[in-house]
Amino acid sequence: MATDLTLRCRDCGQDFVFTAGEQDFYASKGLTHQPSRCPDCRAARKSAGGGDRGQRQMYVATCSSCGGEARVPFQPRGDKPVYCSNCFQQIGGGAGASRGGGYSSGSW
Ligand SMILES: [Zn+2]
Ligand SMILES: [Zn+2]
Repeated sequence: MATDLTLRCRDCGQDFVFTAGEQDFYASKGLTHQPSRCPDCRAARKSAGGGDRGQRQMYVATCSSCGGEARVPFQPRGDKPVYCSNCFQQIGGGAGASRGGGYSSGSW
């Protein structure tokens, strides 16, 4: 029969209990070592490695072109149209159409 063990976390230095149930669980997975970190630090490491890097705040707005859901990385303001990624690609990502492109001026 397993008994609860008190171990010391190598990350935060706190004592934590490696319970008999956890020992059974470890044994059932074929693990013979003891955990070296407390549950808190284990959870913290898990979530830190989960790749929330690159996750940024996205704002949901209504696409000015198709009326669908548009997700933009900035706070949408009323004075500028917001496009979903589909429409944004079709428009070409350019701001305004006043530059007239290149090909219409050369053929005359
Ligand atoms: Zn810890
Ligand atoms: Zn759209």
